Amino acid sequence: MKRPLALSLAVLLLLSGCSSTEESTTIFAMDTVMTLTAYGSHAREGLSAAEAEINRLEKTLSVTREDSEVWAIDHSAGAPVTVGTDTAALLNAAAALGDRTGGALDVTLYPVVKAWGFTTGDYRIPDAEELADLLTRVDDHAVHMDGDTVTLPAGMELDFGALAKGYAGEQCASLLKEAGVTSAILNLGGNVQTVGAKPDGSPWRVAVQDPEGESEDYVGWLELTDEAAVTSGGYQRYFEENGVRYWHIIDPDTGAPARSGLLSATIVGKSGTACDGLSTGLFVLGPEKALDCWRQSDDFEAVLIGEDHTVQITAGLADRFTLREDSGYTLRIVEE
Ligand code: AMP
Ligand code: MG
Repeated sequence: MKRPLALSLAVLLLLSGCSSTEESTTIFAMDTVMTLTAYGSHAREGLSAAEAEINRLEKTLSVTREDSEVWAIDHSAGAPVTVGTDTAALLNAAAALGDRTGGALDVTLYPVVKAWGFTTGDYRIPDAEELADLLTRVDDHAVHMDGDTVTLPAGMELDFGALAKGYAGEQCASLLKEAGVTSAILNLGGNVQTVGAKPDGSPWRVAVQDPEGESEDYVGWLELTDEAAVTSGGYQRYFEENGVRYWHIIDPDTGAPARSGLLSATIVGKSGTACDGLSTGLFVLGPEKALDCWRQSDDFEAVLIGEDHTVQITAGLADRFTLREDSGYTLRIVEE
């Protein structure tokens, strides 16, 4: 009688070990709640590495921590600063994505973002004169990089808030894979990074939030495999004054919250960093220019939700996005 029991236990253990042991961890970092979920026998060790990476990146990239590299750059008063590989990689990515979006993504907007109170929560509406003055200190082409040395002109400040979470997701995906994880989904406060497919081999399903609904309402869902999906939207962080909503994504042309006709922009692609930078930049650009950027690119697809309640999806998502039947939005597929 003892043998079959021992055998069946071993089989059970084996089954749970090789199919889909789920491990999950929730942390607060980079100003947001993050949930990391990984599957398989290497899940725990992969998640430990990912969590350590996020904490390390936060320490390096935070604009408010006095021991970060970004703080050192912002308080350098024009002197050269030596940085590590992450800051250098982000500066290079930000420069390239800034150019690709015609300057709509500009990491040197930080003095303007601060003036609106988006870093502290002390919200206020700067007047036109103040904004014009602050905008003279905004220009990502003025950031000078030479190997691992960065020089930022005195008076300017930069911040990677628009793309750091995407970068963190991408780095975590690499570490999870190095640890042997082939299936994971990381939700870094709305920045989703997937590793491989679901344990059963089918694509991950990721909901796209209804920008005018409650946080659990969604307009539809995406199917993703080994990709990132990142959303920027005016509903994510904002304040209201006299019935007007002011959100955290700023148009570098005006210094004011970007009013481009979009309620949200979701970018899907292999690089989490590019998706994050582009989601912010394309939200600023608005639907037409965002689609022009897509036509000139081959590394991303987009879901653009307009104030007119259209959901425009680019051709590469035609088979991978499903509009919820009673969403109240109209779907349009954008061909090349
Ligand atoms: P995201 O949520 O990725 O769209 O990033 C928005 C954050 O990036 C804001 O909270 C600001 O800190 C910063 N930001 C706002 N507007 C811009 C912009 N046009 N370019 C670069 N960073 C921005
Ligand atoms: Mg972004």
